[in-house]
Amino acid sequence: LPNEPIAIGQSVAEALEIVMSQAREKRVSLSFDNEAPSAMASVNAVRIEQVFINLLLNAIDATASMGNSQITILLRKAGRRALVEFRDAGPGIPEEIADQITEPFFTTKATGEGLGLGLSISRAILEDYDGTLSFSSAPGGGTCAIVSLPLARQPA
Ligand code: ADP
Ligand code: MG
Repeated sequence: LPNEPIAIGQSVAEALEIVMSQAREKRVSLSFDNEAPSAMASVNAVRIEQVFINLLLNAIDATASMGNSQITILLRKAGRRALVEFRDAGPGIPEEIADQITEPFFTTKATGEGLGLGLSISRAILEDYDGTLSFSSAPGGGTCAIVSLPLARQPA
């Protein structure tokens, strides 16, 4: 799939629209703070949206499992990179499994609820674009999934 310069905030917004009905069904609300509307990355639009959808669905699952209701997404620039942060108030990621969550087919969800492929696919997609996927998580303190992508040079 070809790369093209895309507005990252636009891609996040489209991913939000796609998961909206699922969030509503689980009584989870999503708020998007776009601090870098001009941030562009040279990526494939469909693949990068898939990453954002995967992270949103995980955040929705985690949030719903706790009876909490709020997920916040933040897009900002940090030097020559764009950071997209997905912060939930779910149970957090236990330290014992932190190294395994991006492995193919690793899941803690019930049969039929998750295949365990979302994070491994997301990490592979991001690696193709010199991007990274990282997590900060404290048990009981929720999870923050952080996508880092190199900013594309702005057209003059
Ligand atoms: P799946 O969602 O199908 O289980 P993923 O690759 O998307 O597969 O995620 C793997 C595992 O990582 C999940 O089953 C869960 O244990 C953990 N995980 C991912 N995101 C979160 C999150 N936001 N909060 C808590 N645990 C998470
Ligand atoms: Mg998932």
